[in-house]
Amino acid sequence: MSESLATVSYLGATILFILCLGGLSHPETSRRGNLYGIIGMTIAVLATVFGPRVGAAGYAWIIAAMAAGAGIGVYAARTVQMTQMPELVALMHSLVGLAAMLVGFANYIDPAASAQMSGAEKTIHEIEIYVGILIGAVTFSGSVIAFGKLSGKISGNPMLLPARHWINLAGLLVVIWFGREFINAHSLSEGMLPLVVMTAIALLFGIHMVMAIGGADMPVVVSMLNSYSGWAAAATGFMLSNDLLIVTGALVGSSGAILSYIMCAAMNRHFISVIAGGFGTTGGTPAAAGAQPAGEVVAVTAGDTAELLREAKNVIIVPGYGMAVAQAQHTVYEITKLLREKGVNVRFGIHPVAGRMPGHMNVLLAEAKVPYDIVQEMDELNDDFPQTDVAMIIGANDIVNPGAQDDPNSPIAGMPVLEVWKAKTSIVMKRSMASGYAGVDNPLFYKENNRMLFGDAKKMLDEVLASLKS
Ligand code: NDP
Repeated sequence: MSESLATVSYLGATILFILCLGGLSHPETSRRGNLYGIIGMTIAVLATVFGPRVGAAGYAWIIAAMAAGAGIGVYAARTVQMTQMPELVALMHSLVGLAAMLVGFANYIDPAASAQMSGAEKTIHEIEIYVGILIGAVTFSGSVIAFGKLSGKISGNPMLLPARHWINLAGLLVVIWFGREFINAHSLSEGMLPLVVMTAIALLFGIHMVMAIGGADMPVVVSMLNSYSGWAAAATGFMLSNDLLIVTGALVGSSGAILSYIMCAAMNRHFISVIAGGFGTTGGTPAAAGAQPAGEVVAVTAGDTAELLREAKNVIIVPGYGMAVAQAQHTVYEITKLLREKGVNVRFGIHPVAGRMPGHMNVLLAEAKVPYDIVQEMDELNDDFPQTDVAMIIGANDIVNPGAQDDPNSPIAGMPVLEVWKAKTSIVMKRSMASGYAGVDNPLFYKENNRMLFGDAKKMLDEVLASLKS
C-alpha cells in the first residue's frame, strides 16, 4: 500500500471514529456508532499492517500477536460476567498504559528511530519518549490498582499516607529533574538510568494515586483512567509519528476527561479534591461517624409488593448495582410491560453513578429491550417523586441515600441522590441490611413509608411477576 493510500485510509478511519463517538452519545444511535467504530478500526489495522512502514518480514510477528490477542479477547468476552465488566475495562486501560511504556523503551533503544535526528528534533523526540513512558506507567499501575479495587481484591477504602501531598510533590520534582538528565544524556546507557528511575516513580505514583481514592469516588477514577489511556495512546502516536494514533488517543483522552467532569458534577465534587483522595475522611471524621439511622424496618412479601404495584398509577423504578448482580433486568421489563398494559405510568430513574461503570444501568436495560423513552436521567424525574405512588428500588443503595442531603457528616454528603423517599411508598429490594459500595448506612430503610423486600432481586421479582399475573 502506498503512503498516500495509507494516509487517506487513516483520514477515513478518523472520520469514522468521530462518527462512532457521536453515535455512542445516545442509546438509539449507539448500535450505528459501534458499527462505525468497528469499520474504522478495521480500516486502521489494515492500513497499518499493509502500509509502507511494515515490511513483509514483520507479517509473521503481527499475525502471531493478533492471534494471541484475539484468542485472549474471545476467551475473556465469553467468560467474563456482566458484573465483572468494570474491572475488565480497568484491566484493558492498564494494557494501553503498558503498551505506551513498552513502545517508549523500544523507541529509545531502537537505533533506527533516532538515527536521523539531531538538535531540536532529537530533543522533542526524547521529550515524547519521556512523557509517553510517564503517562503509560501511571495509567498502567493506576489501572491495575483500580482493577483490584473494583474486583474486591483490594479494599475499596482509601489508603492515606501521612504527608501524601508532599510525597506526590517530591515525586514530581524528581521526575522533572531526571527529565533534564535524560535529555542531556550523551549515550543510550547514560539516558537509561533516568528513564528507569522515572518509570519506577511513575508506577509508584499511579499506585499511590488510586489507592488514595475510594468509596463513592471510584467512578471518577474509572473515567479518569479511561482518559489517561487515551493520552497514553496519543503519546505513543507521537513516538511512532502515527497521526491516526494521535487523533484517536486525543479523542479517547478528551472524551474521558469530559466523562470525569460529568461524574464529578454528578457527585457534586471537585475534580482536584477527588484526585487528591481521601474519601470518607472529611475533616478527619471517619466514615462510620455519620449519624446512625434509627428505627425499625418494615419487611414486605412479594405478594404485598405486587398489591402495591397493582394499585399504583405512577411508578418509578430505580435500578442499582444489585440488579446487575442478580441479572434481574429481563424480569423487571416483564413487570414493566404488564403494568403498562394495565395503564400504569412506569419510568426508570437512572443515577449517573449507579452500578459500577458509567452507563451500566442503561446497558442492562437496553439489553432487556426496555424502551428508551421511559428511561430517564436523575435530573429529569427527581422532582416527580412526590406525585409517584411507588418507587421501586432494585439493588440500589448509595444512590438513594437521604443521608447525602440530611447529614453533613456523611461521607457522601452533598452527592445528589434520587429522592425516592418522597414517593407515597418506596420499596427497597436487597438481600440484607448491608451497606452499598461507599460503606455508608442508609436512613431510607427506616423511613415510615419505606418497605423492604429482602432476597435476591431476580428471585423476588419473579415472585412479584407471578403474583401480578395471578
Ligand atoms: P450500591 O453498591 O450502593 O448498592 C448495591 C446494593 O445492591 C447493595 O447494598 C446490595 O445489598 C444489593 N445487592 C447486591 N446483590 C444483590 C442481589 N443479587 N439482589 C438484590 N440486591 C443485591 O450500588 P448503587 O448502584 O446504589 O451505587 C453505586 C455505587 O458504586 C456508588 O457508591 C458509586 O459511587 C460506586 N461506583 C460506581 C461506579 C460507576 O462508574 N458507576 C464505579 C465504581 C464505584 P445486599 O448485599 O444487602 O443485597
